[in-house]
Parts: sequence; structure tokens; C-alpha cells
Amino acid sequence: MKKIAVLGAGLSGAAAAATLTQQGYQVTVFDKGRAAGGRMSSKRPEQGYLDMGAQYFTARSEVFKQQVKLWLHAGQVELWPCKTALLSNDEGFISLKTSEDTQARFIGIPSMQSPVKALLDGITLVNSCRIQKLDNQQQSWTLSNDKGLSYTGFDAVILTLPPVQAQQLLAHSALPELFDNADDVLEPCWAVAMHTDAMPTQDAIFCQHPKLRFISQQQHKRGRSPCYILHFNAAFSAQHLHEPEGFWFAEATAILRQELNIQQDITPLVAHRWLYASQNDQIAAPGLIALPDRQLWAGGDWSYGGRVENAYLAGLHLAQAVIEHDKCQQVTP
Ligand code: FAD
Ligand code: NAD
Repeated sequence: MKKIAVLGAGLSGAAAAATLTQQGYQVTVFDKGRAAGGRMSSKRPEQGYLDMGAQYFTARSEVFKQQVKLWLHAGQVELWPCKTALLSNDEGFISLKTSEDTQARFIGIPSMQSPVKALLDGITLVNSCRIQKLDNQQQSWTLSNDKGLSYTGFDAVILTLPPVQAQQLLAHSALPELFDNADDVLEPCWAVAMHTDAMPTQDAIFCQHPKLRFISQQQHKRGRSPCYILHFNAAFSAQHLHEPEGFWFAEATAILRQELNIQQDITPLVAHRWLYASQNDQIAAPGLIALPDRQLWAGGDWSYGGRVENAYLAGLHLAQAVIEHDKCQQVTP
């Protein structure tokens, strides 16, 4: 039975691992985080989960719609009954308008990482394990982590890390660079959770705004802490990347007061910095990357343009590439 190491327990890694496991491969997933989920992760304060990464997902391709159906049936996902709006701030002229739409938007239950965890059910996951080096000797891969531990005997390695992190790992491992522009593919996002007793009228507020890209109200997400989550846009997040959380709480408070007109008390909860959050739409999505001769594959949401659905598709396609490669090797001596 072939042994595969999957690096990254976000949705891409989970989809790759689940597909390969179904086909009889022996898969081990490694992640530097404490739990599976990656950018679909939620913090768990006493009042309920806080979705600090992805807020929801949509399903457009047939293959992902089928997967979402399975998750819905198992209660790992449900529809988010969200009222949408558009907030614009054009040089100080502020407008908040309800924008009706019919798009189905889904959330994980009880938290965003639930569908990722469901795919990984029964698969070996080594978490809190930052892989620092890959070594390929006689067709066999050895992975070493930052605590000096090694994991050996893998026939193939699948990387589902953001490009900068994948590139760093390859450089440490004296392997060829796989990306021309790793630094530019994913952009940062500061995410800030704020509590207020004000009753929300909208759940999903898309922003055309000098600082923000999205405001999400958690009230109608089952199991969540009732609060606002503000996502600052890539330009503003990058410009103030190293500011402390106090800066972000002050920015979020000012926006809630001035632009959503909230008069009640506002309490800061969490500010989280994502260094590699969202696709830079100024450059073409790189697709999947492969070094088949070395049995090394790389992909992630960034392969196809960001978004949860693209992470799933990348994982599926990475697994299919490994399976196809094996089939070709079996017929070509
Ligand atoms: P990731 O989830 O990033 O997984 C990569 C994993 O690799 C991580 O778990 C990381 O810990 C691990 N890793 C990295 N380096 C190492 C290493 N050296 N060793 C071991 N493990 C390592 N998408 C939507 O569709 N809808 C949304 O509403 C939405 N909102 C978003 C809001 C924010 C703030 C962010 C950050 C993202 C949002 N997205 C949204 C994007 C969505 O979250 C991603 O497209 C998707 O989750 C990416 O999955 P992935 O598996 O490709 O990557
Ligand atoms: P979607 O169809 O709900 O939204 C896609 C885009 O269409 C939105 O970003 C928005 O610009 C526009 N839009 C949709 N409905 C709207 C409405 N009612 N009023 C005004 N504008 C509307 O979802 P999707 O295509 O699955 O996209 C995923 C979402 O994830 C996007 O909103 C994207 O911004 C978000 N995302 C955020 C980050 C981050 O770092 N914060 C990273 C990746 C993705």
C-alpha cells in the first residue's frame, strides 16, 4: 500500500487525504496548527464559536454541490439564512443598502472547520507539527519538523500550504522553487470580532470601502457567539500589518459607530492576523504544481482563485493527479 504525506489540514489537504484514503492509500496529514481547519477555523470562547476565517461558502460546481449535500445530510453543514447588504464609503459619503440575492451560502456546524474534520475522520492527523524539511532518498520521503522529529517512508508528498510557506519549505529542503511569484499570490487580512447588544438588521455586509471588505453578523449562525466580525481589506491590512490588536479594535469600533450607527456599548473580543488570506486578483491563479518524477505535488485554494470551493477542488485534483500518475507507472515499466 502506498504511503502519502499530506501537508496542511485545511480543506485542500482534507479533500486530498479523504480521496486517497478511499482509493486505498495510507495517508498521514501534518499540520502546524492545533486542530484541522486552516483558514476555515473558529475560536471557541465561552459564548460560542467565533469564525475568524471563512464566514461561509458557496457551491457552484457539480462535484462540490454533491459533497455539500453529503455534509448537509450528516448535519455538518447548514444553510446560513443571511440578509445581505452593501456598505459603501465614497470619500466619506456612507451608504448602507440591503441587497437582495438568491445565492445559497453554507456554514459549518457547529463551527467552520466541521466539514474539514468530517473529511479527516479516521485519517491519521499529526497536529502541532510544523514541517521544516523534506528529504527524498531512493524514492522515499522523510519529513522533519521544528522539534527535531522525523517521519519517514512516504512514497509521495502533497503540499497544500500557502505558496510562501511552501516555497520556504522547499528552499530549506534544497528542492527546486515551484513558484515564480509566491509572495504575491495570497494577500493578508486582519479579522476583528466585536460584541454589542445592538440588534443587527443584516448578516452579510459586502463593503466597497477604503478599509473593509466584509462585515459579518454571527447572530443567525447556529452555535456562534453573537457578535460582529469585520474583515479589513488587503490594502489596509498590509499597510498596517504590524499594528497591535488595540489599533484594530479602535478601527473596528469607529466603523461600527460611524457606519453602522451603533450606539450601544461595543466590546472588543479577538483580533487575528492572517498573513496569507485571500487571492490577489491582479495575478493569474497558478493551478496545480507538480514534480511527478520526485512524487511531489502542490496546490490549494490559490490554485484556482481562492474560496472554500476552490480549496476542495484543488484537494480532489491533487489526489486524482497522484492516482493517475501511479496508474501510468504501472503500465509503463
Ligand atoms: P489553508 O486552510 O490555509 O490550509 C493550509 C494549512 O497548512 C494550514 O492549516 C496551515 O496551518 C498548514 N501549514 C502551513 N505551513 C505548514 C508547515 N510548514 N507544516 C505543517 N502545516 C503547515 N472563502 C470563502 O469561500 N468564503 C469566505 O467567506 C471566506 N472568507 C475568508 C475570510 C478570511 C479572513 C480568510 C483568511 C479566508 C477566507 N476565505 C473564504 C478563504 C478560505 O478560507 C480558503 O480559501 C480556504 O479555507 C483555504 O483552504 P486550504 O486548505 O487551501 O488552505
Ligand atoms: P458570494 O457569491 O457570496 O460573493 C462573491 C462576491 O460577490 C462578494 O465578494 C461580493 O463582492 C459580491 N456579492 C455577492 N453577493 C452580494 C450582495 N448581496 N451584495 C453585494 N455584493 C455581493 O461568495 P463566493 O463567490 O463564494 O466568494 C467567497 C467570499 O469569500 C467572498 O465574499 C470573498 O470576499 C470572501 N473571501 C474573503 C477572504 C478574506 O481574506 N477576508 C478570503 C477569501 C474569500
